[in-house]
Amino acid sequence: MNSWIGKTAFLLGLVVFVAIRVPHDKRSKETKIAESRKGALEGTLLVLMGIGGFVLPLAFILSPLFSFADYALRLLPLFGGIVCLGFSFWLFHKSHADLGTNWSNSLELRENHQLVLSGIYKSIRHPMYAAIFVYALAQALLLANWVAGPGCLVAFILMLVFRLRPEERIMLGRFGKPYQDYMVKTKRFIPGIW
Ligand code: SAH
Repeated sequence: MNSWIGKTAFLLGLVVFVAIRVPHDKRSKETKIAESRKGALEGTLLVLMGIGGFVLPLAFILSPLFSFADYALRLLPLFGGIVCLGFSFWLFHKSHADLGTNWSNSLELRENHQLVLSGIYKSIRHPMYAAIFVYALAQALLLANWVAGPGCLVAFILMLVFRLRPEERIMLGRFGKPYQDYMVKTKRFIPGIW
């Protein structure tokens, strides 16, 4: 199958994903940051995400740089990638809408930070990370290249390894018992399972 079908689906997906984020990013910037734990590690992880999610795919699509790692695109991964994209759009939009101006792209607490326990946050604690994971999976399925395909997935798994516990610790430190109770009632990514 022509690899441009997967590349085109990925590019459209990237545009939609960014378009979902931009208004929330603008709105959040109007709310001051009260506390930031953005250190060198966090900065490095964000750069890796940029490389895995933008630089590698665009270099693969626009140049022959990674052609040595190409493989043939097949129907099932293409279909799976498109389904993953659709699901990730919904979950990304929903988690941004529910988290409102409490959102940050890093380990930060906003002024008057509210603990969100409703909407999609009632079901799982990290819906936005789940959405980004599914989006990264879509990239891996749609881009038939061993370098550019898994780039975002690898970077994001690394980010989750280093960010998840510190984020929950910050939330526990800021909100105490209500967040502790919330952790008992909910799972991180899959309702009732994990
Ligand atoms: N981990 C969450 C949020 C990602 S945005 C998710 O995947 O949906 C990251 C910021 O959201 C963190 O800096 C933290 O301050 C904030 N945050 C995480 N969970 C929250 C919640 N339940 N209520 C309010 N803010 C939250």
